[in-house]
Amino acid sequence: MKKRDIFLIHGTDYKEMTKQLLERANLAADIRDQEKKIALKPNLVAASDPSHGATTHGELLAGTIEYLQGHGFQNLTIMEGSWVGEQTERAFRAAGYDKICRKYQVSFVDLQKDSSTEYNGAGMRIRVCDQAMAADYRINMPVLKGHCQTVVTCALKNNKGLIPNSEKRRFHTMGLHKPIAHLNTIVQNDFILVDNICGDLDFEEGGNPVVMNRILGFKDPVLCDAFVCDCMGYRTEDAAYIGLAEKLGVGSTDLASANIVCLNPPTGTEAKAHMTRRVQKLAQFAEAKDACSACYGSLIYALDRLNDAGELKKGLPPVAIGQGYRGAKGEIGVGSCTSCFQKSLPGCPPKASEIVKFLKENWES
Ligand code: SF4
Repeated sequence: MKKRDIFLIHGTDYKEMTKQLLERANLAADIRDQEKKIALKPNLVAASDPSHGATTHGELLAGTIEYLQGHGFQNLTIMEGSWVGEQTERAFRAAGYDKICRKYQVSFVDLQKDSSTEYNGAGMRIRVCDQAMAADYRINMPVLKGHCQTVVTCALKNNKGLIPNSEKRRFHTMGLHKPIAHLNTIVQNDFILVDNICGDLDFEEGGNPVVMNRILGFKDPVLCDAFVCDCMGYRTEDAAYIGLAEKLGVGSTDLASANIVCLNPPTGTEAKAHMTRRVQKLAQFAEAKDACSACYGSLIYALDRLNDAGELKKGLPPVAIGQGYRGAKGEIGVGSCTSCFQKSLPGCPPKASEIVKFLKENWES
């Protein structure tokens, strides 16, 4: 897999999807040496079941471990330090990782209890946990989700779990963006496996999951986070740390040159049963018929951006979405399934940023 590649896989068998994506990315060849110490870094921000949209699903860990052990890699460690105010061990159990560690005989390191060393991160002194730095190959496993301070959070910010609590507090006093960018000059991401199953609309700690049923693979954390902005209807500039990381040489935001490899077509159906009241309020503006999860989730993110901009008003015609509209006529729809509508946005699925632009230009009461 190359730095400009973006791999996507859709579905609901998350463990198998993980294995397929890693197989396709040929991760074993990228790691090469079977003696390497491999660190798996999920997001265990707080003690919360992954279905709430905050933490990495255990199936991604299980799939990654099965893939790696199947290719002869035995030196695996899961590591994480939850946010200040949460005990990592509680979050570890809440996400069901205790069972995974037992089943696969893989150890877990609570980085809140680890020693740390100070490094020079492109002119900023930052302490990083020693066990995180001792890894030879780091697999970052963030959740794609919103964040109340940094707008989005994914690969770059997930590395904040590799620093001691004292540094996490200091990062907040510095406004997060700059220190996150500098931290990423110290901790290299060798592979990024993104949990885009049901990340939260706008809070790091979850509560309003948006079901997408998708897993993404990247080599470049900056490209990853730029893509995440697009998926959630933001501009890359809206999350300042991404551009700062690019300036420091961590990676590239050049989505126009990215090579997007979709391993299978979108699947699933819109998960109305799991919607919180807040997501339901946005969904009132949509009329879904057999919409794939990734398509519907993109529309929900787009509606949230339009809501932020004060552009959701009563009287707007509902936005049609889903396979049930193939060949049907209507007023306005998103996704190639609505191509026979008077106004239709192509794409399968279209990204939230494209939906925002399309609805701003075409949605009238
Ligand atoms: S355009 Fe149709 S087939 Fe494609 S993702 Fe959307 S609902 Fe699914």
